[in-house]
Amino acid sequence: MTGNRAALVDVLRDATRPLTIPEILHIRGGLAQSSVYRNLVVLEQAGVVHRIVTNDEHARFELAEDLTGNHHHHLVCSECGAVEDVPASAGLEASLHAAVSEIDRTTGFTTERHRIDLVGRCRTCS
Ligand SMILES: [Zn+2]
Ligand SMILES: [Zn+2]
Repeated sequence: MTGNRAALVDVLRDATRPLTIPEILHIRGGLAQSSVYRNLVVLEQAGVVHRIVTNDEHARFELAEDLTGNHHHHLVCSECGAVEDVPASAGLEASLHAAVSEIDRTTGFTTERHRIDLVGRCRTCS
């Protein structure tokens, strides 16, 4: 991994929520926007980084859950594009696993993991 890619992974590891490219550039000065964008694409293709798409002009990036082991969901604001992490609750995960088992049984699909983005309006926008 090049120095710039390692720096990107460091920034995302320290973040408490998914970050836009401008936020990454703000946190880690000295990186060029074009190189950050290019490296995020490479890291995404390698499965290291996950992109969260919003209505906002800027996509958000975070480390893949496979690497962090921190299962969580997202609150995505359709007005301002803000994205917040919410911890997965035991109750929700249990209900979901029951529902997913039923879906797998009826479809023949084998679900390995899930991603949940709750889309709506953040506290500021509502
Ligand atoms: Zn908002
Ligand atoms: Zn979950």
